[in-house]
Amino acid sequence: MATETHEFQVEARQLLQLMIHSVYSNKDVFLRELVSNASDALDKLRLEKLRDDSLDADVSDPHIEIGIDDDARTLTVRDNGIGMSYDEVVQLIGTIAHSGTAKFLRELRESKDEAGAEGLIGQFGVGFYSGFMVADEVSLVTRRAGESHGTRWSSRGEGTYTLETVDRAPQGTSVTLHLKPADPENQLHDYTAPWKIREIVKRYSDFITWPIRMLPEDSATADPSDGAPGPETLNSMKALWARPRDEVSDDEYHELYKHIGHDWRDPLETVRLQAEGTFEYQALLFLPAHAPYDLFTRDYQRGLQLYVRRVLIMDDCEALLPPYLRFVKGVVDAADLSLNVSREILQQDRHIEMMRRRLTKKVLSTLKDMKAKDQDRYATFWREFGTVLKEGLVTDSENRDAILAVASFTSTHHDTEPTTLQQYVERMKEGQDDIYYLTGESRQSIENSPHMEAFRDRGIEVLLLTDPVDEVWADAVGEYEGKKLWSVAKGRIDLDAEEEGTGTTEGEREQRAEEYAGLLGWMGEQLDEDIKEVRLSSRLTVSPACVVSDAQDLTPALENMYRAMGQEVPTAKRILELNPDHRLVKGLNQAYKERADHTELAETTELLHGLAVLAEGGRPKEPARFVRLMADRLERAL
Ligand code: ADP
Repeated sequence: MATETHEFQVEARQLLQLMIHSVYSNKDVFLRELVSNASDALDKLRLEKLRDDSLDADVSDPHIEIGIDDDARTLTVRDNGIGMSYDEVVQLIGTIAHSGTAKFLRELRESKDEAGAEGLIGQFGVGFYSGFMVADEVSLVTRRAGESHGTRWSSRGEGTYTLETVDRAPQGTSVTLHLKPADPENQLHDYTAPWKIREIVKRYSDFITWPIRMLPEDSATADPSDGAPGPETLNSMKALWARPRDEVSDDEYHELYKHIGHDWRDPLETVRLQAEGTFEYQALLFLPAHAPYDLFTRDYQRGLQLYVRRVLIMDDCEALLPPYLRFVKGVVDAADLSLNVSREILQQDRHIEMMRRRLTKKVLSTLKDMKAKDQDRYATFWREFGTVLKEGLVTDSENRDAILAVASFTSTHHDTEPTTLQQYVERMKEGQDDIYYLTGESRQSIENSPHMEAFRDRGIEVLLLTDPVDEVWADAVGEYEGKKLWSVAKGRIDLDAEEEGTGTTEGEREQRAEEYAGLLGWMGEQLDEDIKEVRLSSRLTVSPACVVSDAQDLTPALENMYRAMGQEVPTAKRILELNPDHRLVKGLNQAYKERADHTELAETTELLHGLAVLAEGGRPKEPARFVRLMADRLERAL
């Protein structure tokens, strides 16, 4: 086949431009990226061969090879791993699959300064393309294991790349970088120097479990029989989790994290676990410092790498951690598992189940320690992953208390500092029996909700919950240390009973109830379609009315959530509460008693209901009609 010229996908082209004119100061990492890809390719080959023994592939000496040609100024990284088919090259190297990349590029254009660009590159990582930081041309020859033809890809990074099928190519992938001209001022960046390559590999890729060999410089011409030096293995290949703890530096752990997490940034926390006894295993887990953009999408690839005695048998073993810890990356190496297990079997395996329970507890106890010892780090963790962790309150009742111990929530107690339930309980007022919360879209909208009025007035703390999952867990958890979790938008709130000696007395309330009985009954009939009851409120101090849910009913937000999950739920009618101290409500009662014709009052009732719905962030049943009635009233008030 002849050489074809293809155009890069737009995003890929933009990213390449960025690499070529790179502002990223640590250019050495390009080698880490190429070695990381090569190592993955060797892992994949082994896994594929494990699953399908008939695969026609050479697995006799898996390794990575680095070759330097000083005269041609090229650097080649070769692996004899899985390789890529023609289509895979087009798909994997010519386009950028990550949907986050578009967002990345947009942010990049907006942040015109170089420091911003550098930060963004570090955030997203650019893998293979990072070669263009140091090379003005990159070519790649690859042959997929089991296929007969190879593919040659080449590009100068300027909008197009060429592709051709080649008859003969060794199995695996070889990437050749045509290095940019040497900078006599800056020897540090001379990637044709063997010491430089040694240093980079040692620093970033020592733990790679496959041998990384450097070929002697003149290996192309040397005669192997004349005693010329052979390839030199650059890495120790020792699995970090198998080395004594005090022999491994934080940097080494971080490099492993970057390799398996495909992240360019350091992790927030490294967790080591060594299980001895009848079922031995080692785990090395990482809590990332940043939530990936796709954490809440179906595409998110969760799972840990599962090894059996240093042999990788699964790249993304989901069964090792519950879904609410899906952000955790890492490695588990077990001594006694079958090498040949399928995903389905793993899901039910007793040992896997044992490991999952232990790892879950370990992660949660690590978070507890972090919270106790390092508030800043914990705050970062919670900001990035709190929403995910809260899912566990619903799905993992066994660890509920441990999750609650590290969960924190915004609250009316403080503008910026979140609180734990423990701290809330310690601050509870004399006579307060329940933990109050309110859910909504934002802190501001919750704080301004009419439901909050009486609480604000009396200085009673309310948790302000803004994640969709909050309603669900609050409902599922129900209580904490014997205190009920109570939504301030649900049921009857009787703060006077809690706080004796203030507000209205029993006698006064009865008298009021009598005064309003007629109006409430009549309004109830008017709103019968949407409202189950109209009653007087003890929640309100400023607003005339609000709608609340009955204690045992689902709130509208929960109803919507269940519907979004495909469950059928009936719409629960709500309750309209009136503020008997409000002039509008007082006037309404008077008018109801004095007038014989209630036509206009029926409209007022409808408007009052609409306003209450609006105030909690909902929408009136018939917005157009609501607006017309309202405009009419405003006009008459002129
Ligand atoms: P990432 O490694 O983060 O996925 P890259 O841009 O580095 O992103 O690589 C894109 C894809 O190209 C890889 O996911 C892999 O499927 C493929 N690839 C890259 N290098 C190799 C290689 N040496 N052997 C086989 N496939 C490779």
